Amino acid sequence: MAARCFLKKVEDYHHDRLRAAVGEGLAALQVTAALFRPGQRILLKPNFLSACHPERGVTTHPAVVAAVAECLADFGCELYLGDSPALDSLEKVIRKAGYQELIRRYGIRLAPLQREHLRPSRSRRWFPRLHLARELDSFDHVVNLPKLKTHSMMTLTLGVKNVFGCVPGKHKAAYHLSAGENRLYFARLLLEIWETVRPGLTILDGIVGMQGNGPGQGQLRSTGLLAMADDALALDAVIGHLLGVPADQHPVVAEAIRHDFASARWAETELSGDAVADCRVSGFQLPAVTDLRWRLPDFLARRIRNWFTTRPVIDPERCVHCGACAAICPTRAVRNRDGQEFEIVKELCIRCYCCHEVCPARAVDLRPGQGTRLLYHFSGSDSRE
Ligand code: SF4
Ligand code: SF4
Repeated sequence: MAARCFLKKVEDYHHDRLRAAVGEGLAALQVTAALFRPGQRILLKPNFLSACHPERGVTTHPAVVAAVAECLADFGCELYLGDSPALDSLEKVIRKAGYQELIRRYGIRLAPLQREHLRPSRSRRWFPRLHLARELDSFDHVVNLPKLKTHSMMTLTLGVKNVFGCVPGKHKAAYHLSAGENRLYFARLLLEIWETVRPGLTILDGIVGMQGNGPGQGQLRSTGLLAMADDALALDAVIGHLLGVPADQHPVVAEAIRHDFASARWAETELSGDAVADCRVSGFQLPAVTDLRWRLPDFLARRIRNWFTTRPVIDPERCVHCGACAAICPTRAVRNRDGQEFEIVKELCIRCYCCHEVCPARAVDLRPGQGTRLLYHFSGSDSRE
């Protein structure tokens, strides 16, 4: 059976409009009380990258989660809200991201995803065992609630990438460390995690998304898109198409196509809701990242890596010395010189861009490699385009 994806243009975060759109989407996807039964425990899994106000566009907007919670509460389900934020506690993210009111209103309980559990993966395609939070076992369904954003390493972060939040604490850094700069390796890991957790419902908040250097420091971009799917990979492929991102520049989708995942091709997904032509987003800006490694043979890529790959650089003028970049860096490449300035040791950096993701002061710039700058110079174009 083909994956199903429902698309709706929604102008803003007005509760009634969102509630109506989510209700329509659930009907289109045939998500009914027969599937989400009274008393079932449902994990709502937003994008809680870090403690940010909803207007920053970093986290899933609470109005979207409120609309989903209201629909699922009507089915009589018990609702839980969980994630494993990169650095901050779940409680802190929830406070800052504006979730307290909806938690009270819908009687939602908190479920930090923090207990370690090494378990067999579902398909054992690439990673026979995965570190995933033990708490996942106690839920009947996971409802995946990603935010539409660019991602400096993976081009976009949508449904499949959002499930990476089910990896508890320090294992996220360990996975980044093992992936290094290899985006296809990381794409495989994300696909394996997604297949194992297998959220039955994914609802994407793209109403105000993020373009440019996401997922923490890009620019807000209103796409007016609410997308819902019974398959997160299908949703990612459809959204990539609507944003004009070719599949070969979107490593999760590219790798899924290469390995014949059933839902990897957007054209094979059953679409409903608003017409594709009305949902297209023009001029969507991708991250200013150049990574040629995944298009080149390994031996060549290693040699020219430092010349071409975009690297993070800390701007001392903007840095507020919070230490978040040093805390999250999987290779300890961020040093605190003389207890004062933070700097990145480029020889240790694997370009995972986690420091860029979590910096609250937008002080981690992404600088194209020297080789890329030269190429752009000779071709007469701007290296940040
Ligand atoms: S670069 Fe950003 S994350 Fe790192 S110490 Fe400075 S403000 Fe904090
Ligand atoms: S310095 Fe930043 S990009 Fe480099 S390895 Fe550390 S967290 Fe990743």
